[in-house]
Amino acid sequence: MTQTLEPQTERTGSEGPAEAPPSPQQRVDGWLSAFESALTDGDVERATSLFAPTCFWRDLVAFSWNLTTVENRDGVRSLLTATLEAASPSTFRTSEEPTEEDGVVTAWITFETAVGRGRGLLRLTDEGAWTLLTTLYELKGHEEPLRGGRPMGAEHGARKDRTTWTERRAAEEEALGHTVQPEVLVIGGGQGGIALGARLRQLGVPALVIDRYARPGDQWRSRYKSLCLHDPVWYDHLPYLKFPENWPVFAPKDKVADWLEFYTKVMEVPYWSSTTATKASYDEASGEWSVEIDRDGVAMTLHPRQLVLATGMSGKPNVPNFPGQELFAGEQHHSSQHPGPDAYAGKKVVVIGSNNSAFDICGALWEHDADVTMVQRSSTHIVKSDSLMEIGLGALYSEEALAAGVTTEKADLIFASLPYRIMHEFQIPLYQQMRERDQEFYDRMERAGFDLDWGDDGSGLFLKYLRRGSGYYIDVGAAELVADGEVKLAKGEVDHLTERTVVLADGTELEADLVVYATGYGSMNGWAADLISQEVADRVGKVWGLGSETTKDPGPWEGEQRNMWKPTQQPGLWFHGGNLHQSRHYSLYLALQLKARYEGIPTPVHDLAPVHHLS
Ligand SMILES: Cc1cc2nc3c(=O)[nH]c(=O)nc-3n(C[C@H](O)[C@H](O)[C@H](O)COP(=O)(O)OP(=O)(O)OC[C@H]3O[C@@H](n4cnc5c(N)ncnc54)[C@H](O)[C@@H]3O)c2cc1C
Repeated sequence: MTQTLEPQTERTGSEGPAEAPPSPQQRVDGWLSAFESALTDGDVERATSLFAPTCFWRDLVAFSWNLTTVENRDGVRSLLTATLEAASPSTFRTSEEPTEEDGVVTAWITFETAVGRGRGLLRLTDEGAWTLLTTLYELKGHEEPLRGGRPMGAEHGARKDRTTWTERRAAEEEALGHTVQPEVLVIGGGQGGIALGARLRQLGVPALVIDRYARPGDQWRSRYKSLCLHDPVWYDHLPYLKFPENWPVFAPKDKVADWLEFYTKVMEVPYWSSTTATKASYDEASGEWSVEIDRDGVAMTLHPRQLVLATGMSGKPNVPNFPGQELFAGEQHHSSQHPGPDAYAGKKVVVIGSNNSAFDICGALWEHDADVTMVQRSSTHIVKSDSLMEIGLGALYSEEALAAGVTTEKADLIFASLPYRIMHEFQIPLYQQMRERDQEFYDRMERAGFDLDWGDDGSGLFLKYLRRGSGYYIDVGAAELVADGEVKLAKGEVDHLTERTVVLADGTELEADLVVYATGYGSMNGWAADLISQEVADRVGKVWGLGSETTKDPGPWEGEQRNMWKPTQQPGLWFHGGNLHQSRHYSLYLALQLKARYEGIPTPVHDLAPVHHLS
């Protein structure tokens, strides 16, 4: 194996001192040229043998027209057998000098395929390639008009039929949806829809983003008033336009909303607000959707070829049904409807749930002198925000990371290069460090009776997020209120409600003027059921999760997040969303898949994921 990684040298044994081992650059160059030569020869076996027996190759669109991770030589062999001819990859090069640490050589690479250009990250060990990330970043002949390719703006010269930018924008807006159909309709204009809309705009794909709210950003404006982003600014940038350098570390929700509104405008995202999609159906024969919308009271039908549901993974509330809810005389609402604490001073509030929203809402209610009880129904993973920032995110997303040359774009690719299958192995030690650092806090929480967990395998927050999208709190202070007993803690399932109380399974009665159901959100294919049909929702299956066989993420192993940003079992239907980092990074791959289809570039999808779960 190693001979393929090292320069071929002939030694007789009678010569002078042994030669120095090859440098990381020489090893990577040797590997890339051996890989490229095997690929050019169409020799899948030879290419496969360059990988370590235990290896992971994650491909984001470049080879597979899918988001897929294959494992070990069998996986590499099958990916190459299926994709090599069409992908026709070439020109593998390093883009900077590789580094070596603990016997692993890491190299940033570039390459080309028949239709596009790609970037990647390769990790080599003595056994061959251990991890390989290949990503497509542009299609040949369809490069984005950026930097040297940016538009002129002004048209120098003199002409009688001159139109201004404003006039052209107005004409375009007038035509869209009337005389010109959008190729892509993005339903949902939160951060996900907006980021995708910006990318499609740059790529010249006629697309329209619609949202039922009156203004871009209203999804954040409508959330409880104390909300600030839980993730720090370095993790949160949108594509193309980064937050300014004075942007707060944790942006308040209304500031995020204003940024989204401003971004939509300056990035010229075609966006219809006050527009609700009410029904959609797909015509197999024409490959076209009919989407009924209500635009500010006016009914219209749009006919896109591609339909993206960017309707939010935290958008479809799970509202529990408890006996007696209809008898309850106080106020009750899901956390997504919670207006904030102002009206509840002196009131008794029971918050059902013990994750992010529950803690944020309890904290704000306590600050406004409400009498608050949190009902914990299952264990929660808590990490302190500063520990998460320093230990969990700092190496990739922080000022220090930037100073060390880890740009947002690099950080996104490094993060993407860690195979989901083994990500927990890298995460567990980080969360052990966090646990040790904040042990005294965790002891106090447990003494208060709070049930803590660290994920089924101790791998903490990111994996809980990727696997199930719930079950955690990034502590920005409210956990202390529970530890101190300022926010009361009750435990167990809710049995029923009476006119004035919430009654738990063990008979505990909690008096309440307000009940908040901080009970999370449902799978995004529920949106497809509402809008299209249950049949299509079931055809597509559960959205999100890795198939890790941990709580709320049933197997079998998928290797990628189910149905996100990639082709689904329903032609022409896509799901987009996630946190700001995911919206930024994965919108690129979704946009390229949509652009290729718009341009008629063949997009043979490798290994379309089968459906194992309906929701
Ligand atoms: C309390 C809370 C705190 C959070 N904190 C963070 C954080 O710190 N960082 C982070 O990255 N994420 C955070 N999230 C997750 C957050 O929901 C998502 O990151 C983000 O809102 C998802 O963006 P999105 O565009 O995918 O969906 P959303 O922002 O939910 O937007 C979906 C949009 O779809 C629209 N829509 C739905 N159905 C239709 C229809 N039929 N017709 C027209 N429009 C429709 C809705 O009006 C909505 O505007 C938080 C979520 C919550 C609930």
